[in-house]
Amino acid sequence: MKVFVLNCGSSSLKYQLINMEGETVLAKGLVEKIGEKSSVLKHKALNKEEIKISEKIAAHNKAIKMVLDVLQDEKIGVIKNMDEISAVGHRVVHGGEKFSGSVLINDAVSEALRENIKLAPLHNPANLIGIEVSQKLMPDTPNVGVFDTAFHYSMPEQAFLYAVPYSWYKENGVRRYGFHGTSHKFVSERASELDGRNYEDLKIITCHLGNGASIAAIDKGRVVDTSMGLTPLEGLVMGTRSGDIDPGIIPYIMKERNLSIEDVDEVLNKESGVLGISGVSNDFRDLSEAAEAGSRKSELALEIFCRRVKKYIGSYTAVMGGVDIIVFTAGIGENAVEVREIILSDMEYFGICLDKEKNKCRGEEIKISKEESAVKVYVIPTNEELVIARETKK
Ligand code: ADP
Repeated sequence: MKVFVLNCGSSSLKYQLINMEGETVLAKGLVEKIGEKSSVLKHKALNKEEIKISEKIAAHNKAIKMVLDVLQDEKIGVIKNMDEISAVGHRVVHGGEKFSGSVLINDAVSEALRENIKLAPLHNPANLIGIEVSQKLMPDTPNVGVFDTAFHYSMPEQAFLYAVPYSWYKENGVRRYGFHGTSHKFVSERASELDGRNYEDLKIITCHLGNGASIAAIDKGRVVDTSMGLTPLEGLVMGTRSGDIDPGIIPYIMKERNLSIEDVDEVLNKESGVLGISGVSNDFRDLSEAAEAGSRKSELALEIFCRRVKKYIGSYTAVMGGVDIIVFTAGIGENAVEVREIILSDMEYFGICLDKEKNKCRGEEIKISKEESAVKVYVIPTNEELVIARETKK
């Protein structure tokens, strides 16, 4: 069985074709800058050279069509025709309260996803386009929606309710939903496997630190808290998102600077985070370089980012009554050696002893805590596509 995994963003799409017998990735790639002047498709098939096609790709339907053509190409293709694709698995960011697990997409599901656009205006519309285009191009192939929010569905009310009028929850859906669920699920399950202990016996904290970043507390296999909320803006400091701030800042700054709701929303999502503090970049490689070259604001941005992660590790340890395993994943979590070191410094009181030598690794699956550390710390590259493919097959 071959599953095509599609992750549509607003101007990009990532995809993989996975043969579920052996879970082999037959081909993967991405299309960037859809709708801009110079779009590019990067495609890598198993045992073949990577190819790049640069041309204007006006919309997602053309991008998906190009990907399907490359997959069937005589020379570099990996399938003979589209019938070989048994199902398409779509990443969907916001499942709201309707979806506690993955779902076979039909008209009613599409309608429910459209209703959720107001909860995730930056993400859900692109996800829906991906679904509609593949329904059109592959009318006989089933489509499955796999939600970023689903793994967090098990959170207790104490974790998902905000201290605002209860009617805001009941009538307007204001609650914590949590995101990056497929990643938190994948790395926490993998950590228990690597550690040789039963998933249901463990207290795990997973740190998904990418351009978007979130952290989750998983007790006995169930999420008991997570840092992102109604939207992916809450929680950790991110590349361009503020994470937690005093809600009182919003009316204050709107008056002071004469800003509209849309202006503030834009600034908090796109001009804040480490970019906002440093004024340099949202990319941690640039920040480290700038900090080394003497940019105090870049150093400060890194320190503030790390301090926020540390605070969450402390609070989640308190909420779970301890922690057995901490996992780092995604772009920063997998690669930024110094960030992991700063986060875990001075945490021996918690039973966390980092092995600084083992920590000098990038993008590999490895235990980075000392043997005597009561809390085991792992770096585990995330694989959201594989989770989506497995869910789609199921
Ligand atoms: P997203 O999926 O949210 O776009 P990723 O998980 O791909 O994010 O993470 C991207 C981020 O990872 C980059 O913006 C950069 O800050 C960080 N990153 C990637 N590679 C490295 C590296 N070698 N060292 C430090 N940070 C890195």
